[in-house]
Amino acid sequence: MSATQPLAASANPAAQPRRPELSIVVPVHDEADNLPLLVERLKSVLDDCVASWEIVCVDDGSRDGTLSVLRLLHEADPRINAISFSRNFGKEIAIAAGLDHASGDAVVIMDADLQHPPETIPVFLAKWREGFLNVYGQRTDREGEGRLKRGFAKAFYRLFASFGETELPEGAGDFRLLDRRVVEALRALPERARFSKGLYAWVGFPATGVPFEVAERAHGQTKFRFRKLFSFAFDGLSSFSTVPLKIATWLGVVIAIIAAGTALFFAVRTLLFGTDLPGFPSLIVSIMFFSGIQLISLGLIGEYVGRIFAEVKRRPLYLVGERIGFEKLDSVHPR
Ligand code: UDP
Ligand code: MG
Repeated sequence: MSATQPLAASANPAAQPRRPELSIVVPVHDEADNLPLLVERLKSVLDDCVASWEIVCVDDGSRDGTLSVLRLLHEADPRINAISFSRNFGKEIAIAAGLDHASGDAVVIMDADLQHPPETIPVFLAKWREGFLNVYGQRTDREGEGRLKRGFAKAFYRLFASFGETELPEGAGDFRLLDRRVVEALRALPERARFSKGLYAWVGFPATGVPFEVAERAHGQTKFRFRKLFSFAFDGLSSFSTVPLKIATWLGVVIAIIAAGTALFFAVRTLLFGTDLPGFPSLIVSIMFFSGIQLISLGLIGEYVGRIFAEVKRRPLYLVGERIGFEKLDSVHPR
């Protein structure tokens, strides 16, 4: 359905506003201090490298006046548009909403905190014009991130590479340029537990990486605490692989074999030498052991069942509270 939209737009060009060449999608959560800076730097870069552009900010339930900053920015320059969520839905969903509302021939996704340098965008564009449809930024360093976080990131990539059927390019994140065809492909994916890094890779299309250096956050603090990152990693693994489910099965088989061996050993020993001890320790140990294994397996199955539950509810991905600058576009992008 969405794939027919470009056709519909070109069938009657006079009736509808022209598509900009480039859209910038920015998920925003409590970034009131960073937004004016970001827009200023983006403007000076974009005016030089594309004929027309728009910025689509998605306010992900901010509570620090981000929305009023966005209103002011839109008044000053109507190319800056925004939608706001009714509450915090998370960065992944904010990106999905941004892709739904962006109308450019190409879309760049970037963070609001200036960690993704706007100056890399011309390089993205050059690669796009060469014919790459999915140009991803590859971070050259993870400085200023803490050794622990870096270690976990590395472990995650290794785990994903050995588990998942989809290959993730190392160091590639959300900072990237997507051609309209890729955007439409992503929009057509209905899943709720969105792990965009995996989805970008899953949809395919000619892709290439552009190295960039992650800058320091301009203002404020990261919103991704460890707990959030863990659940994010699990979302990624479980929505791209069923290996965790199989681990439970393998573990069960191995444990069952060990248990059979142990039983045989005790039986033979009792027959040959008789009982010497009542055997309470081994009983208690094995009960605890098997309960543990069962709980792990149940837990794993539960994680997947939970995801099935979330999918079958068919709830909308997000709820929009306010649109800034999209009134004129609603006929082009009915949602
Ligand atoms: N963000 C969001 N919703 C959230 C958390 C973060 O839209 O619930 C946005 C945030 O405003 C920023 C981007 O996602 O533009 C990256 O967030 P952050 O800098 O906190 O993450 P990090 O750079 O540490 O990965
Ligand atoms: Mg950041």
